[in-house]
Amino acid sequence: MSKERISMDKNFCIGCPEVKDMPKCIIQNIPSNSYIEDIIENSELKYSEYFICHKFAQGFENNKLVITPACDDCGLCQIACCKKTPAAITSLFNRKLESVLFRDLGKASILFQSLFPSAIVASEVQVKGNFRTKRIDLVIFLNKTAYLIKLIKNLEKIPFYSRSYGEVIDTYNKLYPNINFTYGNLIPTSKLNVKLPFDAQTYDLEQLFIKVGW
Ligand code: SF4
Ligand code: SF4
Repeated sequence: MSKERISMDKNFCIGCPEVKDMPKCIIQNIPSNSYIEDIIENSELKYSEYFICHKFAQGFENNKLVITPACDDCGLCQIACCKKTPAAITSLFNRKLESVLFRDLGKASILFQSLFPSAIVASEVQVKGNFRTKRIDLVIFLNKTAYLIKLIKNLEKIPFYSRSYGEVIDTYNKLYPNINFTYGNLIPTSKLNVKLPFDAQTYDLEQLFIKVGW
């Protein structure tokens, strides 16, 4: 992940005169209470409106995004902007963005939906059958591959979630033999060098972006 920036450029907005209500940098619709089946079959997904900014530091005046001093430079709104996707988008990945994602899975859903517009992305995804109490932190469905992602800071718990997500994948592999189900752990960049006494598919934000995108 890139080094922490002093502050982001808050004047990136080029304006959305065609938007009547709120632009994508302020509010987005994200799937809620979804099941894995709904995502794979792209059916019956229910959407809820969701604020992008965790600091409520945004306004929309004269068709442009206005950012107030409450902003902490997490950069999520810049990534979510529908008009200006930076060429080097990973330069916007920083520790503040990371901490927003780990606190709020809805924001993680918005981030990956913005990074992969042709994917279906949902957070806290439900699992049918004997797994009714399970929730998958994040599902990214793209090109017939369903990435089941656990956001995890306590790396010691990875074996538990690996077994749990693995059981879900075993079941869905039988139900959807044409879909590739993949499990991974999104971890903080600061923990990438931690030596683990077990095998684990761990990625920081930039690595996961590359894995899903390629
Ligand atoms: S989506 Fe982009 S261009 Fe539109 S108002 Fe937001 S920041 Fe500005
Ligand atoms: S950079 Fe983050 S904190 Fe600042 S306005 Fe955008 S979403 Fe809010």
